[in-house]
Amino acid sequence: MLTLFPGMFPGPLSHSILARAREAGHILVEAHDLRQHAEGRHRVTDEPPFGGGGGMVMKPEPIFAGVEALRAAHGPGRVILLSPSGALLTPETAARLAREEHLVLICGRYEGVDQRVADHLADEEISIGDYVLSGGELPALVLIDAVARFLPGVLGDPGAPHNDSFSQGFLEAPHYTRPRVFRGWEVPDVLLSGDHGAIEAWRKAEGERRTAERRPDLTGKKTGKKKLTDR
Ligand code: SAH
Repeated sequence: MLTLFPGMFPGPLSHSILARAREAGHILVEAHDLRQHAEGRHRVTDEPPFGGGGGMVMKPEPIFAGVEALRAAHGPGRVILLSPSGALLTPETAARLAREEHLVLICGRYEGVDQRVADHLADEEISIGDYVLSGGELPALVLIDAVARFLPGVLGDPGAPHNDSFSQGFLEAPHYTRPRVFRGWEVPDVLLSGDHGAIEAWRKAEGERRTAERRPDLTGKKTGKKKLTDR
């Protein structure tokens, strides 16, 4: 990805699933400093907006130069601008991007990025939710994590991302682990029954009940396992 703050990335990429995915060679993540692609003694990357108003806007030249350098080094890639104006990140998007060989993520800062980046450089704009963050670095990490989960070999159970919440248009059923009784609260009997059919049915019903209760907007959005697993 291209960022003004490459130092924000090593921590989250150095633990747990993302660390193992990198060690195993499933993903290669590089944080490139946009400032290196800025011209002049001061390597300016942002300027005040035309038309006035507060804040600063990221200039197009370093971003175009950065993407072109990455393309020259790694071959063509799908260029994604993280932006609150983008399409909302969904499991379908994550699964689709997991099929790409190379992604170039552009992280904005300040008031955002000169519109010509979205119009003439980025292949798509992605938002991670209807709220505004102070930069595209955390959204880029969210996207990397969501995409990595769909890469074969990253999760122990290859079916797991397709059964997680949202993938089937439903939230997942609750989980329980030991102890069987904690402070007087018991684990649902069915989970201890050893009856896999009954457990499966209970999980399905609980997932549906939860979805209807908490996220009625999701119900029926059965996007289909087929599409997601069709890699
Ligand atoms: N003025 C802009 C917000 C800029 S926030 C607006 O109102 O839309 C600065 C940068 O943070 C953005 O350029 C983008 O790269 C990133 N960003 C902030 N919120 C985001 C979100 N919800 N999804 C993806 N990127 C986001």
